[in-house]
Amino acid sequence: MKAIRVHEFGGPEVMQLEETPDLQPGAEQVVVRVNAIGVNPVDTYLRSGSNSKLRLPYTPGMDAAGIVESVGENVTNVAVGDRVYTSGAISGTYAELALCEHSQVHRLPQHISFAQGAAVNVPYATAYRALFQIAKAVPGEIVLIHGASGGVGIAALQLALAAGMTVIGTAGSEQGRYLVTDQGAHHVLDHYAPDYLEQVIQLTNGLGVAVILEMLANANLSKDLGILAQSGRVVIIGSRGTVEINPREAMNRDASILGMFLFNAAAPEISSIHAAVVAGLANGTLCPVVGQEIPLAEAPRAHRAIMEPGSYGKIVLIP
Ligand code: NAP
Repeated sequence: MKAIRVHEFGGPEVMQLEETPDLQPGAEQVVVRVNAIGVNPVDTYLRSGSNSKLRLPYTPGMDAAGIVESVGENVTNVAVGDRVYTSGAISGTYAELALCEHSQVHRLPQHISFAQGAAVNVPYATAYRALFQIAKAVPGEIVLIHGASGGVGIAALQLALAAGMTVIGTAGSEQGRYLVTDQGAHHVLDHYAPDYLEQVIQLTNGLGVAVILEMLANANLSKDLGILAQSGRVVIIGSRGTVEINPREAMNRDASILGMFLFNAAAPEISSIHAAVVAGLANGTLCPVVGQEIPLAEAPRAHRAIMEPGSYGKIVLIP
C-alpha cells in the first residue's frame, strides 16, 4: 500500500509518499481501506517534532473514513464492508490502509460522504467535549465560538445549535463568515474588526456570554474575560503562545478558565462522545463541511494550508 512516511521531524516537505507493507489485523483490531483522511493542526505540530515520545519513522494522521477491509477474530462492533470513520489509528491514517483498535472505528451513516466522515473525529469530539463535558453548557445559554470557521468551530456550531443554545460565531475572512452564517449561527462577527467585542456585549444586552470556546487563546484570552457573563466559562481549545490576563476580570465574574486536551479524555468519555456524534450524524443535526480535498501525495500542501488564515471547514486528503 501507499502511505505518507516521516523519517525526520521538520517542515511539511519531510512527508513523503512511499510503498509500505499491507496491514493485517490482530484479534481485536480492524483494517480500514481509507477513502478520505482528515487533516488536523495537531498533525502539523507532531510532524514538527512537538512530541518527544513519537518514534520515527511514522505515518501521520488519526482521522479517516473508509470501508472495513478485514477484522480480527474477536471484533464484533463492525464487519467487513461496513462504512466507518476512525478515531485514531495504530498505524496512522495518511495511507491507503489504516490499522485500528476495534474501539477506534465507528459506523458512518450512508448519507455522510467519506470526505465528510474524515472530518468527524478530532473536530467533533473536541467540540463535544469542550461544550458539554468541560463547559457543561446547557440549552438557552449564549455561546461564543471564537474561531467558528474551521474544523472544530463548525462542529461546535452544529452541536450548540442542535442543543438549543444561542450561538455567536467569529471568522476572520468574508468566506468564513459566509460559512458560519450559512451554518445557522444567530450572530456572526469578524474577529479582526476593531469593535467586535463591543458588538458581543450589545448582542447580549450588556450581560456577556455564558460560554466561550476559544480557538486561539494566546490572542484572545484577555479579551474573553472581559465579555464573559457572571459565572461564565471559557474553554481553551487552541493556543499557540503566551498571553497576559487581568485575573480580576475572572474574579469579578466568578468566571472559570478551563483548559482541555482531547487526548486526556477517559475511554468511557470518548465512547460517550462517539455515541452522541454518530447519533447526530444519523439524525442530520451534524453534517461536516469539507472545504478542500487534496490528493494524499500532496500532504505537504495540506499542512501548509491548514496553518493559513481564512479557514473554511475541513481540509481532507484523498488517497
Ligand atoms: P482550523 O480548521 O485550522 O481552524 C482554525 C480556526 O481558528 C478558524 O476558525 C480560524 O478563523 C480561527 N482563528 C484564527 N485566528 C483567530 C483569532 N485571532 N481569533 C479567533 N479565532 C481565530 O483548526 P481546528 O481544527 O478548528 O482547530 C482549532 C484550534 O484548536 C487549533 O489551534 C488546534 O490545534 C486546536 N485543537 C485543540 C484540541 C484540543 O484537544 N485542545 C483539539 C483539536 C484542535 P479564520 O481562519 O476565519 O481567521
